[in-house]
Amino acid sequence: MANQSRRKFMRSSLFGIAALPFGASLLSQHAFAQELEPLDPSNPQALALNYVKVAEEASAHAAYKAGSNCSNCMFFQSENNGCMLFPQKSVEVGGWCQSWVQKA
Ligand code: SF4
Repeated sequence: MANQSRRKFMRSSLFGIAALPFGASLLSQHAFAQELEPLDPSNPQALALNYVKVAEEASAHAAYKAGSNCSNCMFFQSENNGCMLFPQKSVEVGGWCQSWVQKA
């Protein structure tokens, strides 16, 4: 009986230890997402690329394609709403800028 309890305890402990890296990874991704400062559309680089928080607002832009936004852009990083063109900033999922390229 004591052996069964010990086995159960060992199995639970091993499972808990095995799950630790996944939990830590999720926590660090969440913390990292919170650390990114939202991109201000008045930021000089954002202005240069005509970044807008709502893609449809850019519909008059020559480079705008209906349905394009940050979430379907190849530069978008879904794990933290980051953008490779704006390091350390987060962009709106429904935002847009003239550098938009269809995600593969
Ligand atoms: S490059 Fe793509 S993800 Fe980045 S701001 Fe422009 S449209 Fe959004």
